[in-house]
Amino acid sequence: MRSSKSDTNTKMQSLIKILRMEQSGQFSDNTVVGGMDLFLQRWSVELAGKITLDSLYKDMSLSQRKQWAEKIMDSLGGNLGIVIVDKGLKKDSNLALTGKDDILKLRSINKRNVSKFRQLGIENIIDLAYMFPRRHNDFANKCNISELIPGQEQTIIGVLWEASEKKIGLRLRSTQAVISDETGNIRVTWFNQPYLAKTFKTGDTIVISGKVGIFKGRKVFESPEYELLRGDEELIHTGRLVPVYHAVDGLSQRTLRRAVNEALKISVTEIQDFIPRDILHRNNLIKLQNAIQQAHYPDNIEAKLIARRRLAFDELFLIQLSVLTYKRMWQQNGEAIPLNPDKALIDMFTDSLPFDLTKAQERVLIEILDDMESDSPMSRLLQGDVGSGKTVIAIAALLIAAVNGYQGALMVPTEILAEQHFLSIFKLIKSTGKLEQQDNVLCIKFQGIPRKFYIALLTGSQTKSVKEDIREKLSEGKIDIVIGTHALIQKDIQIPWLALIVIDEQHRFGVEQRAALREKGKRPHMLAMSATPIPRSLSLTLYGDLDISTIDKLPLGRGKIRTRWIQPEQRDQAYQFLRKEVEAKRQAFVICPLINESQTIQAKAAIAEHKYLSEHVYPDLRLGLLHGRMPLSEKQRVMETFQSRELDILVSTPVIEVGIDVPNATVMLIEGANRFGLAQLHQFRGRVGRGIHQSYCLLLAETASSDTRERLRILERTNDGFIVAEEDLNFRGPGDYLGKRQSGIANLKMAKLTDQDILKIARREAILILDSDSRLESKEHRILAHEMERYAIENVAEIS
Ligand code: ADP
Ligand code: MG
Repeated sequence: MRSSKSDTNTKMQSLIKILRMEQSGQFSDNTVVGGMDLFLQRWSVELAGKITLDSLYKDMSLSQRKQWAEKIMDSLGGNLGIVIVDKGLKKDSNLALTGKDDILKLRSINKRNVSKFRQLGIENIIDLAYMFPRRHNDFANKCNISELIPGQEQTIIGVLWEASEKKIGLRLRSTQAVISDETGNIRVTWFNQPYLAKTFKTGDTIVISGKVGIFKGRKVFESPEYELLRGDEELIHTGRLVPVYHAVDGLSQRTLRRAVNEALKISVTEIQDFIPRDILHRNNLIKLQNAIQQAHYPDNIEAKLIARRRLAFDELFLIQLSVLTYKRMWQQNGEAIPLNPDKALIDMFTDSLPFDLTKAQERVLIEILDDMESDSPMSRLLQGDVGSGKTVIAIAALLIAAVNGYQGALMVPTEILAEQHFLSIFKLIKSTGKLEQQDNVLCIKFQGIPRKFYIALLTGSQTKSVKEDIREKLSEGKIDIVIGTHALIQKDIQIPWLALIVIDEQHRFGVEQRAALREKGKRPHMLAMSATPIPRSLSLTLYGDLDISTIDKLPLGRGKIRTRWIQPEQRDQAYQFLRKEVEAKRQAFVICPLINESQTIQAKAAIAEHKYLSEHVYPDLRLGLLHGRMPLSEKQRVMETFQSRELDILVSTPVIEVGIDVPNATVMLIEGANRFGLAQLHQFRGRVGRGIHQSYCLLLAETASSDTRERLRILERTNDGFIVAEEDLNFRGPGDYLGKRQSGIANLKMAKLTDQDILKIARREAILILDSDSRLESKEHRILAHEMERYAIENVAEIS
């Protein structure tokens, strides 16, 4: 039998592929079942004249094998001008692409699936290289068909005997194939993938990786990973440590792997290592290009760990550099303003509240006022569960700044929350303080305190003239306390007498934003607040050194919120339950699922849900709608009508997450609860149970996977935010746990909370660098400076 030229070509390509696998397997002659010699013998016709072998492969030493293989790869690759076999290939060659190009230029990405990648924030080819896998399947264990052990993940390489489509039962169509090697054959079934029968051709050499099962007493592979041995591309789905990426609806692992692998080929070599060489040497860190490649396709488990160590170092190092840079800038600014904790004012303020402070609140207030009295600036984190009453503490501290003749600023992550805080001052002080509102500014007068306090709201969506007015009054010192969103840190805002900044929900802000607010004053005290407890190790990582105050008890009389996970078939009962509460004069929230990060898409879902409920479920009740795309005045109106009980049920997107305070609301119904993190669900739940009535949280999930079940059960079991947080942290990495906006943390893909040793090195190296070149100006730090800039921009961009 004579072989055609193209046949020879295909065989050559297979040979190159096999040699590559040998290379990644350290030339241990385990790529081809039966050994390389057998393979060469079998293909001697096609390979005739193309390769020479002085001795049998099995008799060569490892280094001889290596030399031989490299020689062949060189000559074959060049001489044959190997074409990449890829059907449906319409796009131009990848040769001209760079990491900066759009992913749509990749062969494996098309108009249909590109949006799925975009949803993950992946725009450019290089972004894919940084999309690290969640874990790896270990398919490196290759063996003969006769040696397969049931229950283990293994890889075989064989020849496809036959492949055909089969019907199983009524609907399920599948592909069945028989694959053989020298030692036997095995049946392979792919359920639901009938098209594979057409893809495979008798005689194809195929690699199968997966767990071996037993069916009717015989060994079988069921829906294993597969890969045809052809073309000159190396294996990416089988036969080695194979990456498993985070699941994305509508994208198969094969697609993800193909896209990433293509991206790696194009972009890895352009990646510049931004860590100076001496740091790499000192700490035994491998090169960045290498680490990225190995993070996806490690040669072996050890290589994977070494790669992770390098990438984790990078993440922690960048955070440390930025934290320490700010700290240094900070320390150079001189002393803070000591603020006298005016006891008369504090008494007057607390007396004006409609409740007594809890013991825990009193304790933290003293800690905070003590700090503020000092001439070194306070750097304190106030943590306390949702509803524990952090806001009054913040207001007390801000009033102290004001009564000392200085200004205070409270920065919050959303407009709704800013307004809520502003309104809550009204509500809190109403009883004894005198309030008047004039020209966008609220004025409070306490009995017996000679001066008045002027409080203003500043958000991005206020009209230009209002913003202008507040900006002017702030810069002239006519406003004592300003409450606002990140509109506060815009360049044109000046707060010359700023002595205290409070940052609410601080984990939603980045280091840079906190610093930007600080820089509005000379050296203000800083109080950061969060309902999400931050473990000590993490706070060190992110903030350097921060003092922590904790409100560990909720105000008295807060009942336990009864939480229940509702099954889909109980939906009507849940609706009935809301109705009953409304009939008892209570109010309810319905939260729509987090379908997408996009405000617009979320708004659409909420609008649809609101329509459905109004028309079909509660046509007789008063329903309101709240979403992030509404104009501010509209949001405010809806909130006010809900607060004044003119609405029974408020349908909302997740914007409601923080800060809404309606004591008469007793039910929180959360749709798509499986899509939210535990800490976030706990935050939602905290929107009810704020009054004297028993409150409820109903969770509706779209799936009942074991993961969902376990997480929702935790919420049913406990009301304690700290326990919820701990569990949440266990379930997810720190990045997901603290939310996308947490500076630096969003970039923690590789580093773990337990990486204390890497953190230590990263911190030490960051200090060393800053000691010698505090602004990263020297030539050898140029790429690093560039990387820091990118890092800062990324973090700032996230918030706006
Ligand atoms: P968070 O800590 O989640 O920011 P808030 O400051 O919004 O909590 O307080 C939640 C609610 O509890 C508000 O309505 C507030 O007025 C009320 N509150 C705060 N402190 C007390 C207290 N000591 N006793 C009773 N209610 C309180
Ligand atoms: Mg709060």
